Amino acid sequence: KPVSGKTAIRTTCPYCGVGCGVLATPQPGGGLAVTGDPDHPANRGRLCVKGAALAETLGLQGRLLAPRIHGRQAGWDEALDLVARRFSETIARHGPDSVAFYVSGQFLTEDYYVANKLMKGYIGSANIDTNSRLCMASSVAGHRRAFGSDTVPGLYEDLEQADLVVLVGSNLAWCHPVLYQRLAAAKEARPGMRVVVVDPRRTASCDIADLHLALAPGSDAALFNALLAEIDRRGATDGGFLENLSGFDAALQAARLTDPGATGLPARQLAEFLDLWCSTRRVVTLYSQGINQSDSGTDKVNAILNCHLATGRIGRPGMGPFSLTGQPNAMGGREVGGLANMLACHLDIEDPAHREAVQGFWNSPAMAPGPGLKAVEMFRAVEEGRIRALWIMCTNPAASMPDADRVARAIGGCDFVVVSDMMADTDTTRLAHVLLPATGWAEKDGTVTNSERRISRQRRLLPAPGQARDDWRIIADVAARMGWAEGFAWDSPAEIFAEHARLSGLAGALGSDFDISLHAGIGGAEYDALRPFLWPQSARRRGGRFFADGVFHTPDGKGRMVPVNPLLAPDRPFRLNTGRVRDHWHTMTRTGLSPRLSRHIAEPYLEIHPDDARRLRLEPAGLAELWNDRGRAILRVLVTDRVRPGHPFAPIHWTGTTAPSGRVAALVPPLTDPVSGQPASKSAPVSIRPF
Ligand code: SF4
Repeated sequence: KPVSGKTAIRTTCPYCGVGCGVLATPQPGGGLAVTGDPDHPANRGRLCVKGAALAETLGLQGRLLAPRIHGRQAGWDEALDLVARRFSETIARHGPDSVAFYVSGQFLTEDYYVANKLMKGYIGSANIDTNSRLCMASSVAGHRRAFGSDTVPGLYEDLEQADLVVLVGSNLAWCHPVLYQRLAAAKEARPGMRVVVVDPRRTASCDIADLHLALAPGSDAALFNALLAEIDRRGATDGGFLENLSGFDAALQAARLTDPGATGLPARQLAEFLDLWCSTRRVVTLYSQGINQSDSGTDKVNAILNCHLATGRIGRPGMGPFSLTGQPNAMGGREVGGLANMLACHLDIEDPAHREAVQGFWNSPAMAPGPGLKAVEMFRAVEEGRIRALWIMCTNPAASMPDADRVARAIGGCDFVVVSDMMADTDTTRLAHVLLPATGWAEKDGTVTNSERRISRQRRLLPAPGQARDDWRIIADVAARMGWAEGFAWDSPAEIFAEHARLSGLAGALGSDFDISLHAGIGGAEYDALRPFLWPQSARRRGGRFFADGVFHTPDGKGRMVPVNPLLAPDRPFRLNTGRVRDHWHTMTRTGLSPRLSRHIAEPYLEIHPDDARRLRLEPAGLAELWNDRGRAILRVLVTDRVRPGHPFAPIHWTGTTAPSGRVAALVPPLTDPVSGQPASKSAPVSIRPF
């Protein structure tokens, strides 16, 4: 039942990976009043403008309120029967790999768990991938190469305890605003603290930077290789910690062969950075999509991890590499194994013993025999007819996937497409044969995990509108109709969470870092009262940092340094950089409902250097047309030297499949990192002219 009365309820913001605690008070006339939760460790009462405007985005305009089949309203039974029948028939005729789920980093962990269990353990395919592939898959792959596990070693408080914080490819001020506020407050309180921003673009995060390294786009690995070589040259390695590592010599050799000039940085500025990093013990290197969204993103991650490993600056107060996730529950998705190349609870899908253990726990009829198709490969398989039934949940790939026009055509050509969503009319819902109405933030119960491994509750405060149902319930109802009622017979998210926690105990016994088995016996009342906690939570260890003890999750227990040979991005005009703005979220289906949030930036725009604008005869505040052989976008011109010549920037949020549109994902090529499968969304070749 929804909460009523005037008591403030603790819940969690549904936007970025900071995972701020929210106090939401149901109002007598309906709706909510929202403030920051002073007791939540992530934000301590702070909210950014998006979180503060949550109450303005709860209206029912545009909501999908009843199931639809081919555009006509249908009952739940008819819709669920149809989905189950078409998926079962497709699997029977064409095998388990002929179907796929594409899910979301905005799913709650319980939704994610159920979807993953159905696809991997019952259908027997690993064709479940998530929009988190577009966000942080390279960090996952880099962690696993270096640590043997997808472990974020540090905590948010490290940002405040560090003497040097390096932001790499992260506009923290706009994309993780509350962490930026924490960092800015720490720097104000301790002026000796240094902040360095490494970004080809001068962003709002540079406002507190002591040093901005506007390096050549894509040259991050060259920079960190130069740092590793300098660490060695100065004898700044941690000799004791090196004994816990393998691969140092090979990584160092690759670093020494790298030309620091590839960074394009003035020698004096580069030397200043190297000196600052090497001479400061407490260093946090925080990185985000500017590193991950690259055709060599995993190598860039490992180039950063190498420097922290070689100096032993990891898992200690104020020290460590720190991957920030973009989405509210990308971490929870990783924990349940909601990516095509992962198994539940950070177990290894390529390890037969792990697969057998999970199948035994689930007592399930099948198990995916290995990794499935990652997002870009998945939509290619849809296009080629290898995937014949596709269920898209809680995300809008026709607007957000690279090569978005082609992805939209592929979805439109698929034999059977189901979309579960809160909203009735998105670029993707328009392509569905069956639409299933889902509950959203404040209408459902569950958990999310933020970037520092902290699990928090999202709580139901409002009634489900119309006939909307929770995602986990919809998936479980389809599973039951496919003949698997027993494995999906939960009555509440609390029961799903308890099962997930029990499975994590098994995973912990197999060596997984992810273990929350202390919650394995959790009941409904405890789940309702659950306060934010850091994982792991097991008999062996509770919360804290990882790896300061020099023990890693690799087979030999050693951390692995990875030799990185930097790939340099082609430096010819124009390479479009893409990213977020401060006040909008993804494809704006929620933040677009708040006029206040559109006041900051009201329309899609192109940041372009004055030299480029002059050469192209683009007028400030005029319109520019961007095109390539994949798509086209029309953007408002913003002439600024914040960006480098040849490297304009445009935000990702605006949608629309009919021209003219500001949908820049259509321009992004489906080029991916070979290790992680993450698309290179930061470097789309485009042509530009006045519109
Ligand atoms: Fe929400 Fe992120 Fe803003 Fe916190 S920083 S209020 S989690 S959008």
